Amino acid sequence: LLQDQSVKGIVVNFRNITERVLLERQKDDFVSIATHELKTPVTSIKAYAQILLKRLNKEGNTAAATMITKMDGQLNKLVSLIGDLLDVTKIESGRLQMHEDFYSFNDLTREITEELQRTTDDHQVILRLDNDIEIYGDRERVGQVLTNLITNAIKYSPSSKDIFVTTYSHRESVTVHVKDSGIGISKENQQNVFERFYRVSGPENQSFPGLGLGLFISKEIINRQGGKIWVESVKDQGSTFCLSLSIDYRKPLA
Ligand code: ADP
Repeated sequence: LLQDQSVKGIVVNFRNITERVLLERQKDDFVSIATHELKTPVTSIKAYAQILLKRLNKEGNTAAATMITKMDGQLNKLVSLIGDLLDVTKIESGRLQMHEDFYSFNDLTREITEELQRTTDDHQVILRLDNDIEIYGDRERVGQVLTNLITNAIKYSPSSKDIFVTTYSHRESVTVHVKDSGIGISKENQQNVFERFYRVSGPENQSFPGLGLGLFISKEIINRQGGKIWVESVKDQGSTFCLSLSIDYRKPLA
């Protein structure tokens, strides 16, 4: 049978596919290992920066302390980039874990908003909270999504000030809108922004840094908890990113 030409063809072809799958897996493993290796030294540098900052503040050396604070801000960006890469490798290999518990949605939204307000002097993040509800899901991961949306709203609205974060509580779910008056996204690009590594190209987008992973990860996190995430936007006028979560992800949204 193995002498049969058609069977030989099938055998060879099968081996080619296996090799490709293996290669793909090796590439994923490499990114995963490399990202882990990057994380350790960065964490250590961050710890030293914190110690140094304390010491400089104690000595009253404000000029040096300001520089270390700036360095720490840049390190945070690096940590977040590495975190995104790690998350993507976890998503690809089905290893993104969720840690569920009950939490107050308003408390989480307030916490994230206040934290991000401290990162910008040029923007005002205006929080409008509906009645609070307890929801069941992964608080930290949902916080990561809110952080992504608000960070993007700040990043992509360089010449407008106000960003509105509004929550709406329903009987079985909660919705949050993050609205900016920035560069906006054209209709055809709106469908793609949740894809892995997708970034809108064009002269007005070139000056913004990023890997195009935040929304991909956000969508995965929200989908995994039975929720929805979408965007409404008019080019040059601004964007509103919205997400809805069931109050208990074990009962997904209709
Ligand atoms: P990144 O910001 O790192 O490029 P994201 O996945 O967060 O990656 O976003 C993907 C793309 O969607 C961005 O590159 C940008 O083109 C577009 N985008 C996201 N948020 C906004 C926003 N608030 N306003 C305009 N464009 C946005």
